[in-house]
Amino acid sequence: MKPMGAIPAEFREAPLTIGGRPVSDFTAQTPVFVYDFGMVAGRIERFRAAFPVVDLHYAVKANPFAPMLAAMAPLVDGFDIASGGELAMTDNFANQRSFAGPGKRDAELEMAIRAGVTINLESAGEADRALAIADRIGFTPRLAVRVNPEFELRGSGMRMGGRASPFGVDAEQVPALVKRIIAAGADWRGFHIFAGSQALDVAAIIDSQAHTLDLAERLANEAGTTPPLVNLGGGFGIPYFPGETPLYVEAIGATLMPRLSALPETRFAIELGRWLVGEAGVYLTRVVDRKESRGETFLVCDGGLNHQLAATGNLGTVVRRNYPVAVATAEAGTPTETVTVVGPLCTPLDRLADQVELPAARPGDVIAVFMAGAYGLSASPVDFLGHARPAEFLTGDTQIPRA
Ligand SMILES: *Cc1c(COP(=O)(O)O)cnc(C)c1O
Repeated sequence: MKPMGAIPAEFREAPLTIGGRPVSDFTAQTPVFVYDFGMVAGRIERFRAAFPVVDLHYAVKANPFAPMLAAMAPLVDGFDIASGGELAMTDNFANQRSFAGPGKRDAELEMAIRAGVTINLESAGEADRALAIADRIGFTPRLAVRVNPEFELRGSGMRMGGRASPFGVDAEQVPALVKRIIAAGADWRGFHIFAGSQALDVAAIIDSQAHTLDLAERLANEAGTTPPLVNLGGGFGIPYFPGETPLYVEAIGATLMPRLSALPETRFAIELGRWLVGEAGVYLTRVVDRKESRGETFLVCDGGLNHQLAATGNLGTVVRRNYPVAVATAEAGTPTETVTVVGPLCTPLDRLADQVELPAARPGDVIAVFMAGAYGLSASPVDFLGHARPAEFLTGDTQIPRA
């Protein structure tokens, strides 16, 4: 038997309910993703309470499901987008938008400039192209500079700073670029500094934010100007694996707030993806076959890495570990057994859970894979092997007003 991550507290009853509804409400067709917006709204409220003077931006790439964006729009200040596609998906909302990501094409830059989106410049070359396009179409572009910092967010699952990088302008080149942008007549919007992702260490995040503020202050001084906005990145992680615990964001806010309040001329934003939506999502896949092979029991399901790549350990992990899973249809008290849960793809990589202890399940039962709300369907190879695209549902209270 191997351990698995902890099931989020909201889902620990058996049989499983999501947003107060039984799983059978969603499983006429499987596999499906179900997102409990009540949980997302709860995270947003926690953020607001912990970071009262900080704008909250949602990083759309974590989960671009249209009803999720529509429910999120009235509750967050901004959407952070990373492509022309995400730009189009967010066109109907009044939120501020900023556009980060390397390799923005001319057509994407033009759409963003026309829509008044802040472009987080990833290089001097991108700045040149944005300025030339703005000049050609007669718009004043909103430009911020993404900084490739000299430091990295310690302990983050995905480090984005402290080295050569396709992301952001190396810190030492930033002041000259800021001066050039301002001289060219652009609306300079400030700095974007993203030092890492999936961090669960409060002290490391506090440290990284302090470094971010020091760096923003130093670069602004060198450029001889005050940044209207500093996007502090985020990197708040969620506990996927055994031994990991939820992030105590209140401690981060309590440390950060006094320092930000002392800088009244600059607005600050934190951009979050997985912390807002990751735990709220459940991937539901039905057991099609149960087989024994050389002493191991396999539950073969109708979906796997084609929809939930990250749970199989194939999205940026070095050592495969088990996400939390459950038999959604099991009654409390069902005897348990050790099983391996696999998907239907013809590859040994398609393993949703390896030798975990679960209530005994049969074909027709439904397996729940938790932590599926971020980087799930949109970050998986959906067309690989030609299975049908799974449905997605947003459930729970989507009407919770902003405090
Ligand atoms: C992906 C991304 C995010 C969101 O990261 P999470 O780990 O989902 O919070 C935020 N900012 C930038 C620049 C990103 O590329």
